[in-house]
Amino acid sequence: MIITINGIPCECEKGEYILQIARRNGIEIPTLCHHDAFAGQGCCRLCIVEVVTKGRGRIVVSCVYPVDGECEVYTDNERVRRQRGMILRLLETRAPESKEIQALCEKYNAPKFDRFIKIDGSKCVMCGLCVKACAELSVGAISTVNRGVTKEIATPYHEPSSVCVGCGSCAHVCPTGAIEISETNDTRTIWDKTFKLVHCSSCGAVIGTEQEIWYAADRAGEEFDGLCATCRQKRIADVFAHNAGV
Ligand code: SF4
Repeated sequence: MIITINGIPCECEKGEYILQIARRNGIEIPTLCHHDAFAGQGCCRLCIVEVVTKGRGRIVVSCVYPVDGECEVYTDNERVRRQRGMILRLLETRAPESKEIQALCEKYNAPKFDRFIKIDGSKCVMCGLCVKACAELSVGAISTVNRGVTKEIATPYHEPSSVCVGCGSCAHVCPTGAIEISETNDTRTIWDKTFKLVHCSSCGAVIGTEQEIWYAADRAGEEFDGLCATCRQKRIADVFAHNAGV
């Protein structure tokens, strides 16, 4: 099946999401709450596009909109730009401290609205990617708490979590730099908890926190060999070479 995006013919399968098709064809659509490792959430709504079918256009959220027939898609026309600008300013009221949002407002020339009152000093837009990453890749140590303007992501009772392994996946996927993570040579601090870092016994590179390594080894049902992935691969290659008599 062929659809057009900004006039460019793009091959796709029925059921594929517009964001997916656009990215495969090198067409930029901005997102905050989307990460390729997870299914689309349609949460930040920044990836809106206009879909025109049989002459009728409507605005849809491209990360969760599957194509079901031929159509024309516009990612950056006047209607999309106007609505995207409004969405960006609303996100800015939620996260006025986020440099990433400020940069997007500038990049997409978002108009200023005097009636929008910035509600807190946060960097978080509540996209939920961190919660998803922790639940799907790690231990599920954080969640959404409270409602309305006091809604936030936190550990239970805002206490250092007993289950967090300090892997940093939550901070890594956060699109607005809202989760603070800091490292020294030997420690990593995240969610008010400090973890000891483990270094590779061969090259000295940081592998991760002790808890993260134990957790990963336990899940894989393997013993930790003290090596980083690079040194482990090198050791395996050396063993193969030795056995092959090279
Ligand atoms: S650092 Fe803690 S809260 Fe963040 S993803 Fe890892 S386990 Fe979850």
